[in-house]
Amino acid sequence: MSNNLRIMKSVFSYDLLIIGGGISACVFASKYLQNNISKKIALIEVGRRLGGRSSTRISRKFKEWKLNHGAPNFNISNSKDNLLLKNYINQLLDNRFIEIDDSELINLGDENKLETFKKSKFYCGDSYRSSFSMGELSQKIIDFNNLRDKIDLFFGTFIVDLKFNNNRWILTSNNGDKFKSKYLICTTNFLLHKRSLKILNINQIPLRKAIPKNKDKNIDLLLNFLDKQSFIPRLTFLIYTKEKYSYKDFYSKKYRYFYLNRSLENKYKFERIIFQLQDNKKLGIVLHTKNIDFINSYINAKDEEFFKQGIFANFNELFSNNNSVNQLTCNEGISIMQWRASQPSGFAVPLSLQLIKKYRIGFCGDWFEGEGFGRIEGSILSALILEEKFKTHSNNF
Ligand SMILES: Cc1cc2nc3c(=O)[nH]c(=O)nc-3n(C[C@H](O)[C@H](O)[C@H](O)COP(=O)(O)OP(=O)(O)OC[C@H]3O[C@@H](n4cnc5c(N)ncnc54)[C@H](O)[C@@H]3O)c2cc1C
Repeated sequence: MSNNLRIMKSVFSYDLLIIGGGISACVFASKYLQNNISKKIALIEVGRRLGGRSSTRISRKFKEWKLNHGAPNFNISNSKDNLLLKNYINQLLDNRFIEIDDSELINLGDENKLETFKKSKFYCGDSYRSSFSMGELSQKIIDFNNLRDKIDLFFGTFIVDLKFNNNRWILTSNNGDKFKSKYLICTTNFLLHKRSLKILNINQIPLRKAIPKNKDKNIDLLLNFLDKQSFIPRLTFLIYTKEKYSYKDFYSKKYRYFYLNRSLENKYKFERIIFQLQDNKKLGIVLHTKNIDFINSYINAKDEEFFKQGIFANFNELFSNNNSVNQLTCNEGISIMQWRASQPSGFAVPLSLQLIKKYRIGFCGDWFEGEGFGRIEGSILSALILEEKFKTHSNNF
């Protein structure tokens, strides 16, 4: 092959581009498409499928298993009775995309304090689960009203650079492909946040590079807020139990949640443990941890097998006298998912900075202010609000 051979890269042009394929992107896309059926739009996602942090592990090794390894379900507080959110959730219910999650919640260590526990940020308000898997929920939202063919989906495509030239956005992916559009929606804040510097090995945040300081005060404000936003790292351990593994008691609901109180969490390192009944009737178990020392010990572990045996040992000790949960054999399959940024924390971005008309760019996701901050509720609501703003303003910018 000649050294001069230039590998041709593709250039794609759209009216509107969406970066990210999480639930906020899917909600925005489906609402936007309903009103803009003739527009050419694309969604670009670095992962292999839709869902983002509310996605489902479909393993090549453990066929037929679908374990929700990010958010297992979601809760809606909506204490301000926002009609946009209320109507949207009702629509998801009416279409049977979601159902009320009536699964059992067990508070380990504080069994008598169920009321306090129900007020925790993942359980206040009404709890819902996907009628399918969490990943499929995002897919259903996009498919809704037969809209799937109206949007191009690019998977495995990592956007690494943003430019705004001649009133058009130009996005570059890590393999050199270019995506051009008039409007841009960013549902992840990765390209707006300093964590991108290390991961992309660059010296300027991509949005800052596209729009230099002092060009737009709202972009400057947005980046200032994000400079103060941090993230909770998490690990999730996915356990694929053996054929005969079951509960000790009779329990037929789809999920069962065990929440550890602070002292048990410190001892066993797990935050919550979710049993997920599979279509093939096997029981999957997903354990979450946000204990930093434990996460670091995993990152630095020289022997992953030894680390996994520690997980089984902790699980068996925690449930040794439990009336419902059986011991594991320690030969079950287990896979580990590392979430560098499972949820934003600290500063939330004001919703007033969601739409920057001068640059035809909009933002949504769980990193915006409100009671749904860091949760699916915030992702959905911010996407609905952004779409309303877009509807009102898109003829004027
Ligand atoms: C382990 C865990 C447990 C959780 N538990 C709960 C819970 O119980 N209840 C609850 O409400 N919430 C929970 N959450 C939070 C919830 O999952 C998120 O709030 C929600 O899924 C965020 O959706 P989103 O669309 O805003 O963002 P995301 O799902 O993060 O979507 C953004 C997408 O953008 C993609 N992306 C990023 N950068 C680029 C790029 N440069 N190019 C292309 N694509 C890119 C990402 O891959 C991602 O798919 C949990 C999260 C985790 C990780």
